[in-house]
Amino acid sequence: MKLAARVGKVTPSLTLAISAKAKAMKAEGIDVCSFSAGEPDFDTPEHIKAAAKKALDEGKTRYGAAAGEPKLRQAIAHKLKADNGLNYQAENIIVTNGGKHGLYNLMMALIEVGDEVIIPAPYWLSYPEMVILAGGTPVIVQTDASCKITPDQLRASITPKTKLFVLNSPSNPTGVVYTPEELKALAEVVVEKDILVVSDEIYEKLLYTDVKHVSIGSLGKEIFDRTIISHGFAKAYSMTGWRVGYLAGAVELIKAASTIQGHSTSNVCTFAQFGAIAALESSQECVEQMRQAFAKRREVMMQRLDAIPEVTYAKPDGAFYIFVEIGKTGKTSMDFCQELLESYQVAAIPGIAFGSGDRIRLSYATDMTSIEKGMDRLDKYIRSLF
Ligand SMILES: *Cc1c(COP(=O)(O)O)cnc(C)c1O
Repeated sequence: MKLAARVGKVTPSLTLAISAKAKAMKAEGIDVCSFSAGEPDFDTPEHIKAAAKKALDEGKTRYGAAAGEPKLRQAIAHKLKADNGLNYQAENIIVTNGGKHGLYNLMMALIEVGDEVIIPAPYWLSYPEMVILAGGTPVIVQTDASCKITPDQLRASITPKTKLFVLNSPSNPTGVVYTPEELKALAEVVVEKDILVVSDEIYEKLLYTDVKHVSIGSLGKEIFDRTIISHGFAKAYSMTGWRVGYLAGAVELIKAASTIQGHSTSNVCTFAQFGAIAALESSQECVEQMRQAFAKRREVMMQRLDAIPEVTYAKPDGAFYIFVEIGKTGKTSMDFCQELLESYQVAAIPGIAFGSGDRIRLSYATDMTSIEKGMDRLDKYIRSLF
């Protein structure tokens, strides 16, 4: 069978290989500590599940508008205004099958052959692949130990072909958060060079220090006009399997994304959208409880890492990951993760999947016992290398 050329241009998810192996080992009864999770380990809060069940019982089981339930689009617009100071109406919002699908729709609506998209590394692994699927060219910019792109780096990577800059704060895989000053300086470059920025803010609510989440689009009219927000319910509300996310941006772009969605997936699962409405309109106490649990785990994982002088990391202010520099061990991230899993039964994701071959991603979206045990083993493995 001759497959479309575009398939050959993208890489199947590298992270899946390690995860599959860890799963197989677990199935064999091996005691694996997994730091590989890309999702919260909590159940979806009860009131959100109840709202979806009620919607099911009330017959919210039909096709809906491709761009999303009007009430949800309104609730999202309200959230973006109240939380982020972004002046959007319902018509500026499209509800998508997860944040990932929103980004995919965005690339399909915006990027064509020859267009360049600037992606700072370390990056979330789907960004470059989505750009490639749309026919565009990802321009990867390697950042320094801070894991943040500087305004000078951004300016230097912009060419007449640059269409879009991808910003992700708090970041997966690094957990780093851009300060308002850093965002302001990046926004100035975006405006000066008249490009667009997509701001992936899916980890907005998961912050652990005194940093504040600021949306780059809120920093003035000129940057607002050039910003697209990508967001979703998966991480803050522990709703990864529900597949509800959204994009916010100019009406023209949202309409284009809705047309694409209308010919591909149509609306997001109707009753899942009613769960999302409840998530936004009910108390946010559930988010705070999960955040506090993550905060404790983060503290423990950082303390354990700080006791291993051979490794370093950029301080993670948000999300639920620590991106650890393992260059001193002399191992590639792939070899390191393979040995760690096979010989010490700890699953971590090789940094090469995120464009950084001398780091590994540790996720603390797991229980405290596994964190303690897994860190004991990681410590032992690293000591064995010196
Ligand atoms: C998890 C994640 C998403 C989207 O997740 P969905 O489950 O598709 O909503 C988007 N961006 C980043 C950086 C993520 O980690």
